[in-house]
Amino acid sequence: MDFTDDPLVIECFLHLPSLAVQDTNPTDYQWILDKQNETDKIVFCRQKFPDRYFNKVLDDKEIICYVVPSDNRNTQWKFALTNSMIWPTCHWFHVMLGHPGSCHMRATLQAQYHHPHLLTHLECFACDVCQ
Ligand SMILES: [Zn+2]
Repeated sequence: MDFTDDPLVIECFLHLPSLAVQDTNPTDYQWILDKQNETDKIVFCRQKFPDRYFNKVLDDKEIICYVVPSDNRNTQWKFALTNSMIWPTCHWFHVMLGHPGSCHMRATLQAQYHHPHLLTHLECFACDVCQ
């Protein structure tokens, strides 16, 4: 029996809160690519700092990623966030992780994403539900 055959399981899913983040998915390569393509600034970063920013092909999409120069770019890379991606990414993870505290948010985002001012944005991040 598939778990979706159980009406109680379906009932649980029906009562999940609706998300105001439906157009955003920072784990979706196409969303990341579309957002990165909205600005030339990240291409500029890749050209100016080729030891830090590089293209990585993920599901046939060339995504700009970041690595600390002394780290292994095959295993220690992160998605490079543009300015317009920071808030939606913070908000999406905050909701999806069930409104965690700032330490959990910071650890999760820093493990997978890079922006020079990510920490500053996280310190200023405020959630209407958690207030
Ligand atoms: Zn919250």
